[in-house]
Amino acid sequence: MKQKVAIIGGGIMGASLAYFLGTLPGGEQVDVTLYDSGIGQATSNAAGIISPWLSKRRNQQWYQLAKDGATLLIQLSREANLSNDIYQQTGTIVTRSDEADLQLLLQTAQSRQQDAPDMGTIELLSATDVQERIPLLTHAQPGIFISGGARIDGAAFVTELLRQAQTKNLTFLPEQVTLNATGDIIRSAGIKHFDTVVVLAGARTADVLKPLGVTAKVRPQKGELIELNVKDYPTLENMPVLMPEGERDFIPFGHGKLIVGATHDDEGGFDLSRSQAVETDLLASAQRFDADLTADNIAQVKIGTRAYTADFAPFFGQVPQHPNVYVASGLGSSGLTTGPVISRLLANKILYGLDDNWGRYTKPTNIYFD
Ligand SMILES: Cc1cc2nc3c(=O)[nH]c(=O)nc-3n(C[C@H](O)[C@H](O)[C@H](O)COP(=O)(O)OP(=O)(O)OC[C@H]3O[C@@H](n4cnc5c(N)ncnc54)[C@H](O)[C@@H]3O)c2cc1C
Repeated sequence: MKQKVAIIGGGIMGASLAYFLGTLPGGEQVDVTLYDSGIGQATSNAAGIISPWLSKRRNQQWYQLAKDGATLLIQLSREANLSNDIYQQTGTIVTRSDEADLQLLLQTAQSRQQDAPDMGTIELLSATDVQERIPLLTHAQPGIFISGGARIDGAAFVTELLRQAQTKNLTFLPEQVTLNATGDIIRSAGIKHFDTVVVLAGARTADVLKPLGVTAKVRPQKGELIELNVKDYPTLENMPVLMPEGERDFIPFGHGKLIVGATHDDEGGFDLSRSQAVETDLLASAQRFDADLTADNIAQVKIGTRAYTADFAPFFGQVPQHPNVYVASGLGSSGLTTGPVISRLLANKILYGLDDNWGRYTKPTNIYFD
C-alpha cells in the first residue's frame, strides 16, 4: 500500500516538498495531495533575493539553513532545469556609504567565504563600478559584489515545481481546507484520511493546527513591494541584485522587470490592501538611486504575509502529540532561501524515516507551541 501524504499550503515549502516526494528515490511508494488556497501567499509576492552570507544574524542554526538553502537552490535549478527567468545567479551588490563600514563588510564576506564556496567570488566595487554593473542607476554608492548571489521568481518557481510533481505522484487541489481533531482533512467535498499530513501554511499555521488542540506561536507580518517596468534596458538581462544601505532593495529580472521592496509591517498582519503612502515611499526609495523612475513605471503592486516566530527562527518537525502531522513555518523574510532545504529534510523523513540532523537546523518544535 502506498503512503498517502497530504500537504496543506502550496508556497515555496509546499511546492518543494511535493517536488522532492515526486522525484527522490522511493517517491513511487507515495501518493501526494497538495491543497492550497493561495490567499496572501508570501512566496508569490516576494522580492526574490537569495544572498544570506552577509547577514548580521547571530543564530547559527538559521545561518546553516540559509547557507545550505542557497546551495540547494543552485542544485535544484540544474536538476529541475529551471529557466533563467525563474532562477539565476546574477550576483548581489551590497553597498555602504562609509569607507570603514565597507571594509568591515569586506572582512565579513571574506571570512564567511571560507566556509561557503557557493558565495563565489567577492569584489570591492567603487560607486562607478556599481553603476557600470547596474546601468539604470543614476546614483550609486561603493559596495561589495558577491557572484554567488541569486534572484528567484517565487511565483514561477512554485508553478514549475508543481507542474513537474504533477507528472509524478502529485494531485494539486487549489482550495482551502481545515483539519479535524484527529488530523483528517476537511474539504467542502467531505473528510479525507491521510497517513501523513504536512502543514506548510505559512502565516496561517496557527489557524490550521488549532483543531488539533495546539497553539502554534506564529504571527503574521504584511510585506509590500512594487514591480516596475524599465523597458529602456531590455538587453540587460543579467544585472545583479542591489542591496543599498538603509533603503529598499533593487531586484532586476529579465525583460525590463524591476522589483523594489519590501516593507515589513507588523501592524498590517493579514491585511492585503494596497496603501498609497507605502507605494509612494517605495518609489521615493527607488528614485534615490534611479532619478528617472516615475509612478508610470509601476506595473504592479504585490502584497504577501510573512510568518514569524518569537525568536525570528524558522521551525519544523512533528506537531506535539500528533506524530503523523508535520509542520514547518516561521520563515520570516528569508523563506525563499530556507524553504526548499527544510522541505528536503521533511521529504527525507517521510520517505526514509531520517531526521538525525534536524538539530543542526532547528530547535525542538514544542518550544514553538503553547
Ligand atoms: C514582500 C515580501 C518579500 C520577500 N522577499 C524575500 C526575499 O527577497 N528573499 C527570501 O528569501 N524571502 C523573501 N520573503 C519571504 C518568503 O517569501 C517567505 O518566507 C516564504 O515564501 C514562505 O514560504 P511558505 O511556503 O512557508 O509560505 P507561503 O508562501 O505563505 O505559502 C503558504 C500557503 O499556504 C496556503 N494556505 C494557508 N492556509 C491554508 C488552508 N487552510 N488551506 C489551503 N491552503 C492554505 C496559503 O494560501 C499559501 O499559499 C519575502 C516575503 C514577502 C511577503
